[in-house]
Amino acid sequence: MSSSTTHTDNANGANGPVNGGISFWYADDGLPTAREPLTSDATADVCIVGGGYTGLWTAYYLKKAAPFLRITVLEQKFCGYGASGRNGGWLYNGVAGRDRYAKLHGHEAAVRLQQAMNDTVDEVVRTAAAESIEADIHQGGVLEVAYTPAQLARLKAFHETELSYGEKDRTLHGARETAERVRVAGAVGSTWTPHGARLHPVKLVKGLARTVEALGVTIHESTPVTEIRPKHAVTPYGTVRAPYVLRCTEGFTASLKGQRRTWLPMNSSMIATEPLTPAQWESIGWEGRETLGDMAHAYMYAQRTADDRIALGGRGVPYRYGSKTDNDGRTQPATIEALHTVLTRFFPQLTGVRVTHAWSGVLGVPRDWCATVTLDRATGLGWAGGYVGSGVATANLAARTLRDLVQQDSGQAGPTDLTTLPWANHKVRKWEPEPFRWLGVHGMYATYHAADHRERTTHTTTSSRLARWADVLTGRH
Ligand SMILES: Cc1cc2nc3c(=O)[nH]c(=O)nc-3n(C[C@H](O)[C@H](O)[C@H](O)COP(=O)(O)OP(=O)(O)OC[C@H]3O[C@@H](n4cnc5c(N)ncnc54)[C@H](O)[C@@H]3O)c2cc1C
Repeated sequence: MSSSTTHTDNANGANGPVNGGISFWYADDGLPTAREPLTSDATADVCIVGGGYTGLWTAYYLKKAAPFLRITVLEQKFCGYGASGRNGGWLYNGVAGRDRYAKLHGHEAAVRLQQAMNDTVDEVVRTAAAESIEADIHQGGVLEVAYTPAQLARLKAFHETELSYGEKDRTLHGARETAERVRVAGAVGSTWTPHGARLHPVKLVKGLARTVEALGVTIHESTPVTEIRPKHAVTPYGTVRAPYVLRCTEGFTASLKGQRRTWLPMNSSMIATEPLTPAQWESIGWEGRETLGDMAHAYMYAQRTADDRIALGGRGVPYRYGSKTDNDGRTQPATIEALHTVLTRFFPQLTGVRVTHAWSGVLGVPRDWCATVTLDRATGLGWAGGYVGSGVATANLAARTLRDLVQQDSGQAGPTDLTTLPWANHKVRKWEPEPFRWLGVHGMYATYHAADHRERTTHTTTSSRLARWADVLTGRH
C-alpha cells in the first residue's frame, strides 16, 4: 500500500482516508437532519423497529396497501444508520439460503424464490423511479470474475447452478470476453446476469424515509428500542403499543433484550478511491457499470460509482467478540490495507491512486445462513432479515412479504404468492454462546484466507477442502 493511503489513525488527515463517519455515501450526500424522538407512550396499528431498507420498505408497502393504518417507525439513530447506509450498492438477485430452501422444500419452491428475487430487482428500480427517488441506479447487471483455476471451476459450477434455478439469461465468458467488459488482471473467466443494478445506498434510504413520511408514516429517530414484547416496543422515552410489532434491526438484533444469539453481527468493510481519470478508466473498461465480484472464498464486491470512483468491499475483522456492533463505521488500518491490496490485485495500474474513504458495517447472519421473513400469528411479532450480506434487494421482497403476512393475519387478504415462498416463517436455532461464536467465525475466515492464498499461489484447479469443511462446521452449507 502506498504511504498516501496509510494514515488511517489520523482519521481526516491530509492524505489518509476519512475513516468511519458512517460511510463514504454520507460524505458524498450529507448526513440527514435528525427527526424528533418519541417523547411519551403512544399507540399505532403497526410499530416497526429499525429504519433501514427492511423497515422503510415495509412501512411503504403497508401504507400503500392500507392508507388508514397508523404506522410508527422507531429508529435508534437515524434512518439509514445501519447497513442500508453503508453497503456496496449491489441491488442484485442473490438470496441467502436458497440452496438450503431447495433441500427443505424442493427445487420448484426455490425456483419460485429465485424468480421473486429476479422480479425484486426490477421492482426496486421501478418504485424508485415512480417515487422520484434519484439513487444513481444503473441497471448494468452483475459480473463475477475468476482469476485462479480453482475459482474458475467454482465459477462454472455456480453458473450451472444459477441456470438450474431458471436464470436463462445468465451468460458465461472466457478471458477475452471478460476483458471486453472489465480488465481485471489475470481474469480467466466470468459469469454475468442482467438481474442486478448499481445504486447509491444512502440516496435510496433517504428517499425512502422521505417517501414514507409523505405518505403519513410517523418516524421517530434517536429512539432506541430496548425490548420488544408482544404488542409492545419499549424505549427509554415511552412504549409504543401496537397489535403488530415488526423487528427490522438485522445486524443490530443482538442488542435487543433476549436476542443476543439470534443473528450474528458480521462485519463488512469498504474503501472508496478518489475519482479516477478518463485515462485510468480507459485502461480498465467497465463502461457497463456492472457490479463486480469474484469467486474467492473471502470474496470481494465493487461498483463504479456515479462520480467515477471505485467503491470496493470485503471481509476485514469478520466478527467482534460478544456480538459487538458499531463505532460509526470506523475500520482497522489492517483491513483498509487488505482491501487496498485487493484493489491493486484487480487493477495494478491503480497502485498510486488515493483511497479517500474507509468504513464498515454489520449484517445479520442466522445460524443456518438462511434469510427469513416471519409473522408469528399468536403474538403479532414479526421480523425479517438474516440476509447475510445480500439485503439490498432482499429487504424489498421481505417487506412486501411482511405486508402480505400482516394483511392475511388481520383478515384483509388471503395467502399470496409471497406468503407461500419457502423462506416465509422459517425457524432456526440460535448461535452458540461465546467463546464458540467468536472461534467459529474467526476460524472460518482464517481458513478462507488460507484457502484463497493456496489457490492463488499453487494454481490448483480444485477448491480447498478445508474451506468446504469450514462451511460445514459453521452451518453455511
Ligand atoms: C459494508 C456492507 C456492504 C454491503 N453490501 C451489500 C451489497 O452490495 N448488496 C447487498 O445486497 N447487500 C449488501 N449488504 C447488506 C445490506 O446492506 C443489508 O442486508 C441491508 O441493508 C439490511 O437492511 P435492514 O434494514 O434489514 O438493516 P439495517 O440497514 O442495518 O437497518 C437496521 C436499522 O435498525 C436500527 N436499529 C437497530 N437496533 C435498533 C433498536 N434497538 N431500536 C431502534 N432501532 C434500531 C439501526 O440503527 C438501523 O438503522 C452490505 C452490508 C454491509 C455492512
